[in-house]
Amino acid sequence: MKEPIIKFEDFSFQYDAQAEPTLKHINLEIYPGEKLLIAGPSGCGKSTLTHCMNGLIPFAYSGESTGTLTIRGRETKTQSIFEISKTIGTVLQDLDGQFIGLTVAEDIAFALENACVNQTDMKKEVLETARKVEIADHLEHSPDALSGGQKQRVSMAGVMVNQVEILLFDEPLANLDPATGKRAIEIIDQIQKKQAPL
Ligand code: ADP
Ligand code: MG
Repeated sequence: MKEPIIKFEDFSFQYDAQAEPTLKHINLEIYPGEKLLIAGPSGCGKSTLTHCMNGLIPFAYSGESTGTLTIRGRETKTQSIFEISKTIGTVLQDLDGQFIGLTVAEDIAFALENACVNQTDMKKEVLETARKVEIADHLEHSPDALSGGQKQRVSMAGVMVNQVEILLFDEPLANLDPATGKRAIEIIDQIQKKQAPL
């Protein structure tokens, strides 16, 4: 029997600034290889739920949580955001705010530079990851010069290069036109099929 990679058990969370909990008694198990869509009206707590998983809560937004949330069997609140980022990669809705490099290649390489990976391995890994999200033809371009869909793929590559086991998208279609959104879904599908454990 496989263990869930993410497990919420009677998990509740209340922002310090709020009078009521935003997340109430969440019980949810997500298994390796699964692709899960969380849907609901604006303000229902989707982003809050993702922030609990990627460590932005409590690192950037303070509040009180009860119950447990474990990733790979470890409580998230006992881990640093840096540790969590090695397991879970987040692609945010605001794509422009996430670019650091002057070129697409530099941007994808950022996590590897921080990990002091040597130049030869870095080039190879950047190219491999860029191919997975079909952005390898744009490695020398500036991220600013890309379309919304291309920016999203660079952002995906930037977290995938870390060999993360979990990819998290917050409103992945919000800034894309319908055709580009459809393509984004196809690429997410492809990644899931190719990378998911059997
Ligand atoms: P969704 O992503 O589903 O639109 P959110 O998770 O962003 O919903 O918001 C859920 C609720 O939490 C909203 O009522 C919102 O006002 C509140 N909330 C979100 N972020 C914060 C914050 N940083 N501080 C206090 N309350 C917040
Ligand atoms: Mg949201």
